[in-house]
Amino acid sequence: MTVKIHLINKWDKNMPINPDFMKNPITGEHNSHKVRGEVNPPEKLGVHGTQVAVDHDCCEGDGICISVCPVSVFDWVGSPGHPTSKKKSDPVREQDCIFCRACESQCPVTAIRITEL
Ligand code: SF4
Repeated sequence: MTVKIHLINKWDKNMPINPDFMKNPITGEHNSHKVRGEVNPPEKLGVHGTQVAVDHDCCEGDGICISVCPVSVFDWVGSPGHPTSKKKSDPVREQDCIFCRACESQCPVTAIRITEL
């Protein structure tokens, strides 16, 4: 008799954004914002943005943040080959953020962190 055991590690993917992400080194610049953490495309994309930070390794690309943002901070960016989704929400106009926190509160995977600097 064969018994299959499926081990599920909820931390394998879709971990929420690290609240201490700003302690990670800046590893790049993209669309006028900083990128922190490990970047090794297509699997690892890091955290994009500072005051509006989106963890692209967590983002599932459902677009709720794009829908709710009243000042159009986000644009789509392609992420072919990424294990979580093939497009990500990118905070290309983070300087326009009015800190309403709608994106942060409605992201279903807690990929966004807003910080008033
Ligand atoms: S906090 Fe509000 S204004 Fe800022 S990016 Fe999120 S939805 Fe847009």
